[in-house]
Amino acid sequence: MNQKGKLIIMSGFSGSGKGTITKLLLEQFQDEYALSVSATTRGPREGEVNGQHYFFLSTEEFEQMIQENAFLEYARYVDNYYGTPKKYVEEQLNRGRNVILEIEIQGALQVKKLVPDALLLFVTPPSAEVLKKRLKDRGTETDEVIASRLNRAIEEADGCEAYDYLIINDDLQVCVKQIHHIIQSEKCKMAQN
Ligand code: 5GP
Repeated sequence: MNQKGKLIIMSGFSGSGKGTITKLLLEQFQDEYALSVSATTRGPREGEVNGQHYFFLSTEEFEQMIQENAFLEYARYVDNYYGTPKKYVEEQLNRGRNVILEIEIQGALQVKKLVPDALLLFVTPPSAEVLKKRLKDRGTETDEVIASRLNRAIEEADGCEAYDYLIINDDLQVCVKQIHHIIQSEKCKMAQN
């Protein structure tokens, strides 16, 4: 039987390490996972490739896609639009792949309403100090943007009780194993219902 894939939302503060966790999941379990590439109006960071890290769009292009109902969800985050194109997600789920959306909380809540059995994971660094350090070490944002992102992190912490699991990212490999096991268990649960 070809079981439909599970929709997985991976949220967490900017700098929580969720991107690295997703990358490792995709590397270690290639046939089981697919990553949704979001669209955004934010400019590319150094090394980011259009179509691979994001689809980088103008505000007009993004708003056109909203009109066409092409997004599963979308949200504004620190002055930019971010959204999940619907088509790829549906295709991959139908092929039996678990599809990971790396999105922030407003989008996560929209998806949970549309797809109640989506699995919501919230990744957090072990402390606020570690979070600050990771953002600074990344060196891709100005101090002003880091400050906005830390403020946003505080707001997001309030919403994390809406998530199914809280993942504390102290050790990357441990997190990856933990998340893979959670997903496998959740899929068994679904099969029993
Ligand atoms: P960044 O600018 O650091 O790449 O992303 C900023 C925030 O937007 C992160 O929390 C990221 O997970 C979130 N994000 C990325 N893509 C999407 C998306 O398609 N939808 C929503 N709602 N959030 C997204």
